Amino acid sequence: MKTPGEKICEVEEYLPGRGTYADEDGGVYAKIVGKEKFNNIERTVSIVPPPGKRIPGINVVGSIVYGRVFQVLNKVALLHLYPYKTARFRLVPPGPIGAIYIGDVRREFVEDLHNEFEVGDWVRAKIKRIVKKFYPQLTTVGKDLGVIKAYCPHDRTPLVRRGAELYCPKCKRKFKRKIAFDYGDPKLPR
Ligand SMILES: [Zn+2]
Repeated sequence: MKTPGEKICEVEEYLPGRGTYADEDGGVYAKIVGKEKFNNIERTVSIVPPPGKRIPGINVVGSIVYGRVFQVLNKVALLHLYPYKTARFRLVPPGPIGAIYIGDVRREFVEDLHNEFEVGDWVRAKIKRIVKKFYPQLTTVGKDLGVIKAYCPHDRTPLVRRGAELYCPKCKRKFKRKIAFDYGDPKLPR
């Protein structure tokens, strides 16, 4: 099984076919999740997606994803989701963007989403539902979910945790966030 971005071979060995691409250095990589299929007559390799799985990557409700907030609106925070690569596995999100709605931030009522997330925050979230292809709705309800790293909007200093709030050691401002229990020293999957 190959995941997007995973190297398959060199173009000298097999040419990129369906579901693959080649980079400038001549490496052939998977574009989608699936099994590699070598055609020894055409000298091509393609990726065949598993039956019934149209969304590449992890598309299971309940999967953990990592993302960075790029927009905070009144009712929803939008994140760019990133693949997380380790020696043992690759965590590939089901789409490039995830959304956290105001009701899915924490158990308590949230009045202002800007007290929970800001642009640039790194967030660990869980897939709550997938409304349509490439658009997972996320939740940060639970103490293991939420912001894992954030920066001061005034001087970009990494914020440190102080009780339930975040604090900038440089300009001494305080910030509210929905933080994960391991904020600042997040336990990433290994
Ligand atoms: Zn600051």
